[in-house]
Amino acid sequence: MNMKFHSTSGQCRDYSLEQVLTAGLAPDGGLFMPDTIPSLPREFIHNLPNHSFAQIATRVAEEFMCEVPPTTLQTMIRSVFDFPAPLKKLRDNLYILELFHGPTLAFKDFGARFLARALAYFLERKSEELNIIVATSGDTGSAVASGFFRVPHIRVFILYPSGRVSPLQERQLTTYGENVTALEVQGSFDDCQALAKAALNDPELTSRARFSSANSINFGRLLPQSFYYFHAAAELQRAGARENPVIVVPSGNFGNLTAGLLAHRLGLPVKHFVAATNRNRIVPDYLATGHFEPRPSEATLSNAMDVGNPSNFARMLELYQNNHRRMARDITGAGITDTETRRIIQKTYHDFRYLLDPHTAVGVAAAFKIGLRDLTVVLATAHPAKFREVLEPWLRIKVPLPKRLSQIMHKKKKSIIIKSDLAQLKQAIRSQIHV
Ligand SMILES: *Cc1c(COP(=O)(O)O)cnc(C)c1O
Repeated sequence: MNMKFHSTSGQCRDYSLEQVLTAGLAPDGGLFMPDTIPSLPREFIHNLPNHSFAQIATRVAEEFMCEVPPTTLQTMIRSVFDFPAPLKKLRDNLYILELFHGPTLAFKDFGARFLARALAYFLERKSEELNIIVATSGDTGSAVASGFFRVPHIRVFILYPSGRVSPLQERQLTTYGENVTALEVQGSFDDCQALAKAALNDPELTSRARFSSANSINFGRLLPQSFYYFHAAAELQRAGARENPVIVVPSGNFGNLTAGLLAHRLGLPVKHFVAATNRNRIVPDYLATGHFEPRPSEATLSNAMDVGNPSNFARMLELYQNNHRRMARDITGAGITDTETRRIIQKTYHDFRYLLDPHTAVGVAAAFKIGLRDLTVVLATAHPAKFREVLEPWLRIKVPLPKRLSQIMHKKKKSIIIKSDLAQLKQAIRSQIHV
């Protein structure tokens, strides 16, 4: 039977996976969740070390994607996850799962690539076209541009704040072309976000073509992130581990951790989770006190985690039926300062000759803070080379750029420059599609 979905706000029920992926956010403003989370068969869990990443991903995805024929799903998964996710040992009891070997060198490639292919499958069946509008402060846009490039039936418009993304990020957004249009907005990230929202709510635009968003609350980005938790367990067992691990997740909007909680419900062998944040410690504070108090975000070194009102918290609450005590039994929070982040980057390089990016560093600092009594895996969310400008002076070393990224620096930038103004945005969209 096909899996049905409902919204965390309670108004929307009985959505199919196809509707969930195309809608993104539920019309009532809530986040989509599956009605039931099945338990994976015991043999599968016991046999994890005998399965490849693609086999694990296919088995987990099947539970939620009955609409997609198994062979199609398998082919889709093989082409989406064509990069490795190695587990590295730092020292006894401490492992790093490197999730940054995808095309844009951050873990967001897992979600963006999977969502693109899954959407393309549903659109192909109905020969429909879909336009995606997404606002970015850098990383999400790169993963979406790369993940949706040349995916049939989909056109992507990426709004980014002019002069406020790094030169590398700008190349990652603006050098694709074809079905990916970069819109360089003369304004802030907040302006981009407001503009994207205005366009998605514009009756004139939306009556003439289908528009959607690809932001991180889409269930189609969450589901694929649960695959690598099982893969981590498989890798650990292959390395000889006999106990279930504590898994540390560097977090901002908490999509990554929520995917881990989903995996936990499916049967992942895990002992405990650690929610590692920077100074924006809204969730660690909730775990410690039972009070959820969103506040404006503060800028830190791990800027992709600067979130003052984590969007996936509604999903976490639903998974624990609003029971703070139960959630705190499974998850410990840790808020890490920039000073601690910098110190752990230096220490990890000197002790192990291993380079941490500032986001993964928050996770490693949290692991040390909690004491490392248990077998621990930290999820590494970004490649250190993406932050070489920060790391090089601290460590007094040269951090080489992987070939894939150095190539992109030579490509030609193509963007349409617009003011932060809906009329200009609509004109830019019309220059690309007939609406
Ligand atoms: C997006 C991002 C995060 C935060 O992930 P969430 O799922 O939003 O918690 C952490 N690290 C990096 C490098 C990211 O790009």
